[in-house]
Amino acid sequence: MNVHLTTLGCPKNQVDSELMLGMLTEAGFPLVARAEDAECLIVNTCAFIDRAREESVNTILELARLKETGRCRALIVTGCLTQRYGNEILKELPEVDGILGTSNLSRIVELVGQAANRHDWATSAPPGYLYDADTPRLLTAKVPYAYVKIAEGCDMGCTFCAIPQFRGRHRSRPLADIVREVEGLAARGIQEAILVSQDTLAYGRELPGNGDIGDLLLALGETRMPWIRPMYLHPAHVNDRLIAKWQRARIVPYLDLPVQHGDDGILKSMRRAVTAARMREVVRAFRDAIPGLTVRTTVLVGFPGESEAAFQRLLEFLDDVRFDRLGVFTYSPEEGTPSPAFSDQVPAEVAAERAASVQDLQDRIAWELTRELVGGVADVLVDGPSADSAFAFEGRTAGQAPEIDGVVYLKGPFEPGRFARARIVEVEGYELVGERA
Ligand code: SF4
Repeated sequence: MNVHLTTLGCPKNQVDSELMLGMLTEAGFPLVARAEDAECLIVNTCAFIDRAREESVNTILELARLKETGRCRALIVTGCLTQRYGNEILKELPEVDGILGTSNLSRIVELVGQAANRHDWATSAPPGYLYDADTPRLLTAKVPYAYVKIAEGCDMGCTFCAIPQFRGRHRSRPLADIVREVEGLAARGIQEAILVSQDTLAYGRELPGNGDIGDLLLALGETRMPWIRPMYLHPAHVNDRLIAKWQRARIVPYLDLPVQHGDDGILKSMRRAVTAARMREVVRAFRDAIPGLTVRTTVLVGFPGESEAAFQRLLEFLDDVRFDRLGVFTYSPEEGTPSPAFSDQVPAEVAAERAASVQDLQDRIAWELTRELVGGVADVLVDGPSADSAFAFEGRTAGQAPEIDGVVYLKGPFEPGRFARARIVEVEGYELVGERA
């Protein structure tokens, strides 16, 4: 039975997809590039927020049509949506033949093997699965970077976030196992390892004798992986010891520090365990310690109780810190979290207007910061052919994480999957244009 897999959601989900494809390939199931040609369709879903759930359900329904018009004989749904709403999906979507949560990925081989029948999956399965360096993994994207999941779950309990409910408590992979995986990826030609988890700075805490995130970064610096990029760094976990290790570690000068807000009342009600003043200090300390650092953040607007004054404090905070990159999201009430019961819910139109104001402010800051790059020379990792037909290739500087930051459009001949020196000749919105230096 041949298989096609569709991935939705975040890089952590992409890792799960690559692991499932690796296991299926090893078990002898051929993969096909087009959903129309597949006998078994797998959708690896996301359930992070309302919009993601809607996209997941729409994709399932769309692919289910191929059971009538295409070659598809079985439709399997995996990922966060099924981890969270497994029973409902089986009940309400009869098109679905089998489901699997995020808890036991290796069962995908069994499920595809039995795909013609409908199979149960226990919603009560604890979200305990964490892969290791020996799990076969098929790198699907033709890009020189790969995501590496270093831990799973989260113990932080932010009042707007449902992730701990379906990804479970924080647990880390052993340091030596991650080092082995990153070495293996480097040997396969991968040039950049992007370390992901729900709470990256909490890495190693529950593994006595394993070392912490600083130790992991120092150890990864000894591998042959050229670029190492840790993501999702909760500001509450930063201390001087960590910054000192960060400074010594061979990682890209890039800090992904989701602040979520800049008003202390809102931060407290979000249960972020950090104040705006402390986050200012943290960014300053990292900038002092690491020359040429690019700082990215994420902001959530429209959280219950966000008054106009609180929102203005957020704008002041952002104007003051001047993040190089920023993603802004509007609050959506998540089932099973405390915040939907909070008083002073903010109307959706107000939240949307506030998101637009944050974006306007950030567009100005980003433009001021990016235009300073013109005329300079930077190391660029050439990701491959450009999505913009005006350029043959595109790549990224160390200050640009894949898929969320801009790219460098490259003029002239470059070799995909390799590093090159590029002179930045132009800025186009959030993108740069470079030519061989
Ligand atoms: S730290 Fe991140 S994953 Fe954990 S509860 Fe907060 S927002 Fe959710």
